[in-house]
Amino acid sequence: MPEKNSIVDIRATVVQSRRISSTVSIITLDCPAIAAAAKPGNFINVKVSDTTLPLLRRPFSIHNVRGTCIDIMVKSIGPGTSLFCDKPSGSTVMVLGPLGNCFDITAKEFDTAILLSGGIGTAPMLFLEKTLAAKGKKVINLIGGQSKEDLLAGELSNCRFATDDGSEGFKGNVVELLQNELENLKKEGNVKVFACGPNAMLKAVAKFCREQQLAGEVSLESVMGCGIGICYGCSVEVNTPDEGLRTILLCREGPVINAELLAV
Ligand SMILES: Cc1cc2nc3c(=O)[nH]c(=O)nc-3n(C[C@H](O)[C@H](O)[C@H](O)COP(=O)(O)OP(=O)(O)OC[C@H]3O[C@@H](n4cnc5c(N)ncnc54)[C@H](O)[C@@H]3O)c2cc1C
Repeated sequence: MPEKNSIVDIRATVVQSRRISSTVSIITLDCPAIAAAAKPGNFINVKVSDTTLPLLRRPFSIHNVRGTCIDIMVKSIGPGTSLFCDKPSGSTVMVLGPLGNCFDITAKEFDTAILLSGGIGTAPMLFLEKTLAAKGKKVINLIGGQSKEDLLAGELSNCRFATDDGSEGFKGNVVELLQNELENLKKEGNVKVFACGPNAMLKAVAKFCREQQLAGEVSLESVMGCGIGICYGCSVEVNTPDEGLRTILLCREGPVINAELLAV
């Protein structure tokens, strides 16, 4: 969790918004205080409209940090995301952040980071990749989607792809791709898996990490309200080694959790 006093609620200007696919946009927001404090895995909660429709803010991962700006990768799936994607340059939105915890990249016990993502789950990976690379870690991206159009590699490097329909890369899901690649990847040193995507995919990743005794972290999604632990809208059940099943608030104790907590 970022220091409480580094969380700000500010009016940020949309510097640029560009479509990268039929449903996905990269939105650049000028918000110096958030850009300065953000860590990979953090998210922001955006009031996408100045009216009460929609009433609640919408949470988005920090995709990239560039100077005083942050980039957000948004998939339009409903009224909030659609309004956000349609914001013209020069317009403003209220942004609360940075929120949530972050990926643990400080551990010395891994040399290679496997960034495994599916669909819009690729959103937090660019900021993570850049931060890992700056620390001298080797990074490999395994990216999955239903078909070629769903792959959101963008500026990510060292990417391998999995598609359900075989239209790009490995035919199958991204966890099966990991299974296929693991022996080779292990030759390059100890690996740690960082994953984000649909919760079903993350459960499969967690199970695989446990079976293979791999260190792993997963960034979960849930419907979310306030983003700061007040509304209890984002409670998620996890399996802790000490206490068994426990409910956590994803906005405060997540969105990143140890993969072990999701393995069943
Ligand atoms: C920590 C976090 C980080 C996120 N990061 C990103 C990101 O970087 N880019 C991005 O495009 N989206 C991200 N999301 C998801 C995004 O917040 C939702 O897509 C958005 O709130 C939907 O709003 P809407 O008004 O467009 O659609 P709504 O009308 O609110 O929802 C449309 C449909 O999607 C479902 N839905 C809504 N939110 C979620 C969710 N979080 N998980 C699963 N299903 C959901 C609803 O139940 C409904 O069926 C993130 C969510 C969380 C919790």
